[in-house]
Amino acid sequence: MERETNYLQEREEVLTPILAIEEASRCLLCHDAPCTKACPAGTDPAKFIRSLRFRNFKGAVATIRENNVLGGVCARVCPTSTYCEGACSRCGIDKPIEIAKLQRYLTDYEQLTGFEALEAVEVTKEKVAIIGSGPSGLAAAAQLALDGYKVTVFESKDLLGGWLTYGIPANRLPQTVVDNEIKYIKNLGVEFKTNCKVGKDIKIDDLRKEGFGAFLIAVGMQNSKSVNVKGQDLEGVINGVDFLAEAKTTNGNIKVGKKVIVIGGGDVAMDCAATAKLVGAEDVKIVYRRTIEKMPADRKELAYTQELSIPVFTGFKPSEIIGQDGKVTRFKAIGMFDDSELDLSADMVIFAIGQEAEKIEIVDINEKGIIQTSNYMTNVEGVFASGDIVEGDKTVVYAIKDGKEAASEIAKYLTSKKEGAR
Ligand SMILES: Cc1cc2nc3c(=O)[nH]c(=O)nc-3n(C[C@H](O)[C@H](O)[C@H](O)COP(=O)(O)OP(=O)(O)OC[C@H]3O[C@@H](n4cnc5c(N)ncnc54)[C@H](O)[C@@H]3O)c2cc1C
Ligand code: SF4
Repeated sequence: MERETNYLQEREEVLTPILAIEEASRCLLCHDAPCTKACPAGTDPAKFIRSLRFRNFKGAVATIRENNVLGGVCARVCPTSTYCEGACSRCGIDKPIEIAKLQRYLTDYEQLTGFEALEAVEVTKEKVAIIGSGPSGLAAAAQLALDGYKVTVFESKDLLGGWLTYGIPANRLPQTVVDNEIKYIKNLGVEFKTNCKVGKDIKIDDLRKEGFGAFLIAVGMQNSKSVNVKGQDLEGVINGVDFLAEAKTTNGNIKVGKKVIVIGGGDVAMDCAATAKLVGAEDVKIVYRRTIEKMPADRKELAYTQELSIPVFTGFKPSEIIGQDGKVTRFKAIGMFDDSELDLSADMVIFAIGQEAEKIEIVDINEKGIIQTSNYMTNVEGVFASGDIVEGDKTVVYAIKDGKEAASEIAKYLTSKKEGAR
């Protein structure tokens, strides 16, 4: 079946109830299930697939939510071939169980039926401040709220969700899915303060005075990396994440060039290239400095750019962007492995070569540009950190794992502080 090529149309097919149960029936019900062991966030696919197989839909949904409050998001964006599906025992027989599709089916079922597997608990414990509303902050907030803490999430932007809202394109992750999961977390009693940058609009010391006993820095990597190339200040040269944020927040109503060059080989570069094509660019090309084997992009995302007929030029690095009347007209690159040259006509050049941390005044950042922690605690007492800003593999599921583990450490810290004060 040919896929929809529309920026707002979700790319992956949805399973019907019968197909979902049939797929669950292929599961081998493994003892010590490899899929479950492979999920960093502990979503426990083996357990929810078993419940689904025996038509216990609510039980299946409860397993997902109790372990991973962002189960609907992960069902769509997790690189499952690296985690659960890659580890599935059925890989050795025919093909892995389609775990992500089953998880999506179940979280959609929960949404459609209005069933909510998690319920708010009474607040009986201290105030905790979470700084940043990306997946790591959200996962930590939900866990702490379910443990009885009074949780407030501070977010510097006007929308919640971090890269879930401002980065991952709508055809992979519709905003309604992100918004529903955030609403879910609000229903657990978590409060949110937007347009509030901690360190600038409010300081940690002020929050301590307001009675917050612990803090979690989950601020991610917000700054785009740059390279020094002549012509970078021309109109039509843009950062990948800025381009994706504009596309996402305008539902794809964005001005795009006719001839677009995307620089980079990661998922952000693939998202930029696909988005540019889906929102109207006639001709999109990807330029990457290493070989195709070394490209860090998920193979599924690379394959999608190929479905959209986007060529990839490997082994080239940008040398110059040429313009006329202040606007981009050509893009030049030189070979990394020989003295070949690329000279392409272009009116837009998108740099998607990675992100780095913004300077944080609150705690020390090491020479690698990340916060060093010990059991998630930073060099400042009571201040913890999790997600992309701490060394991790920079995926949503990893940020969630980190958020959950950091929440457990915060709870331990606050409990021992209380016991010490007795
Ligand atoms: C375009 C794109 C596509 C991606 N695709 C995928 C994918 O398909 N699958 C996958 O697993 N991962 C993907 N990722 C990576 C994934 O999104 C990140 O690893 C994840 O979002 C990190 O979560 P986080 O909570 O650490 O930080 P973030 O998501 O970066 O959230 C941090 C939040 O903190 C806020 N903040 C920053 N400073 C402050 C402050 N001082 N005060 C208050 N708030 C602050 C920011 O505004 C932001 O909302 C993608 C990333 C991008 C950019
Ligand atoms: S590894 Fe595969 S077959 Fe085994 S329990 Fe998990 S999903 Fe089922």
